[in-house]
Amino acid sequence: MKERCLVLIKPDALEKRLTGMILDRLERLELDIVGTKAVSLTEDLIREHYKHLAGKPFLANVVRYMMGDYNHLPNHKILAFVLQGEDAVKKIRHIVGATNPDNAQAWTIRGNFGKVDKAADIVYNCVHASDSPEDAEREIALWFKPEEVLDA
Ligand code: ADP
Repeated sequence: MKERCLVLIKPDALEKRLTGMILDRLERLELDIVGTKAVSLTEDLIREHYKHLAGKPFLANVVRYMMGDYNHLPNHKILAFVLQGEDAVKKIRHIVGATNPDNAQAWTIRGNFGKVDKAADIVYNCVHASDSPEDAEREIALWFKPEEVLDA
């Protein structure tokens, strides 16, 4: 089924200059990039995006991580993409890998480049990708205005 998926390049990947490599891997999936922009984040946006994590003890760390506090990104920048195509969510999640990079298959983006700081309870996993077509639509509406996304 043709569907859309939100991908975010997180601050650890920006700091390590991994954007080109991540896009290269995504492009091999032969999906259409229908939306792209740099976003200056607010805490409210992060909390709304991750509202399913409300009450989790590590949420405050996730907010600081996404704000770039741990990666020397004072402008709170994130890169956001909307990809569209057949089974986009499944295909993208497959190459992104498991949430915890220690559990991700070694060849995936998170398995290759993610890192866990167990002592500080921070999961640096490089990218976000929507985990269902329904969630993708909710997230895309949060991050993009309708006119910022093309219909491929
Ligand atoms: P995913 O990003 O794979 O969809 P979740 O929605 O469960 O996974 O988690 C959102 C983000 O919160 C993760 O990508 C990761 O950065 C962070 N996170 C998840 N679980 C933990 C944890 N146990 N400790 C610290 N951070 C976590």
